[in-house]
Amino acid sequence: MSEIAVTAPSTSDAQPAEQEKLAFGGPVGALVMMTLLPALTLYLWASVHRHGGALVLPNAALLAELPRPSLSALGWLVGWCGFQLLLDVVLPGRDYVGLVQKDGVRRTYRLNGLASLLVTLAALAGSIAGGVVHGAAAVEQLGSLLITSILASYLFSVLLYLFGKPASTRAGDVIYGYFMGTALNPRVGRVDLKMLMESKVAMSGWLVLAILMAHAEYERTGAVSLPMMLVVGFQALYTFDFFWFEEAMLSTWDINNENYGFMLAFAFLVWMPFSFSLQSQYLVYADPQLSGAAALALILLNLAGYYIFRSSNLQKHRFKTQPGSKIWGREPEFIQTARGTKLLASGWWSLARHSNYLGDLMMALAWCLACGLTHLVPFFYFLYFAPLLVDRERRDDQHCARKYGADWDRYRERVPYRIVPFIY
Ligand code: NDP
Repeated sequence: MSEIAVTAPSTSDAQPAEQEKLAFGGPVGALVMMTLLPALTLYLWASVHRHGGALVLPNAALLAELPRPSLSALGWLVGWCGFQLLLDVVLPGRDYVGLVQKDGVRRTYRLNGLASLLVTLAALAGSIAGGVVHGAAAVEQLGSLLITSILASYLFSVLLYLFGKPASTRAGDVIYGYFMGTALNPRVGRVDLKMLMESKVAMSGWLVLAILMAHAEYERTGAVSLPMMLVVGFQALYTFDFFWFEEAMLSTWDINNENYGFMLAFAFLVWMPFSFSLQSQYLVYADPQLSGAAALALILLNLAGYYIFRSSNLQKHRFKTQPGSKIWGREPEFIQTARGTKLLASGWWSLARHSNYLGDLMMALAWCLACGLTHLVPFFYFLYFAPLLVDRERRDDQHCARKYGADWDRYRERVPYRIVPFIY
């Protein structure tokens, strides 16, 4: 994997605070998030696995229920990450040159995510068939695995912090740098750590957990319920799509603009696998009744969301990488920027500036609704995801306004809606 410096690399990776408005409230906000987010994942685990999805008061009794880290959980975590690293290194892949990133560098990535997912699922099926792993054991280990992964993300972030060789030792800068990261895309040899952890470790880990939860339900009740089939099916579609269009990840904000620090380390090791699989975890115990009509409506909602999500992301990706491609049967319209690049103003990108977020939110809603309306906790994914994408859109908007200046103003005038065409 090689790197091509397109413009002089910026020093802003190490000192983001100097050039950009501090995200998340700066060091204080970072400290709060680094405390509250892990606590929240533990709370959600206790709600689902100890109280059937009910919201309970966070009191001493709840504290006593919280899981403890264990050596066997550490073994599973290290084994999982090691297995994904091995697949990353040994499976054949194709080299793909990404976009110019925040530091002015164009990096080449070796993509083999789909093969890796298939091998992982085959290994999972073999392990379940051979009795090496099974759903009930996964449910039993899940709490320990969660707290062990949280501790691992704190430790791993120390390594990530040291990657960027930060110059400032002021406490606020250290905390903020630890949280937001000091290096954009740290690599060890050929392995891009951010890509490995986001795609193979987090995305595949999420699907593996969801499948194990379905197996746990099967072991408990002798069948896999319709809501569980829907949730695991929807999330399998999302995961397969992610790997099928793996190169589209190289035009995302995470890869090109976000440094790799605690925020992303925690997201990939903890948040994505454990909180994205909350619905399937909940369905191990709950049995919401879904009519055929309701199931059909959820399938349609998920597919419509998927279509918007996928087609909008592909439109932008193809516009950037294959400029001749038509959009909705026409030559794409665009705004030529003074920087030399173009802003797409056709297809979904003419209806709202982030229609791709709308598609994602529709799918999220379908996954949550499959769990019925008895408890709020299975809706957690949608409830946090909607404000997250609203905030992300605003941060991206500020970033683009700084980057493109008057050209971005012209784009905003032409496409006034942020996420939902004609509404928001
Ligand atoms: P985008 O893929 O929308 O990327 C935003 C970047 O695209 C901008 O910074 C800008 O980068 C470029 N851009 C914006 N508008 C235009 C335009 N009109 N024409 C050309 N380029 C444009 O954002 P994300 O990376 O946030 O999202 C990608 C997908 O990932 C989305 O579908 C989102 O829903 C999903 N996602 C999922 C999450 C999850 O937890 N499941 C979390 C976050 C995102 P530049 O100036 O460099 O070209």
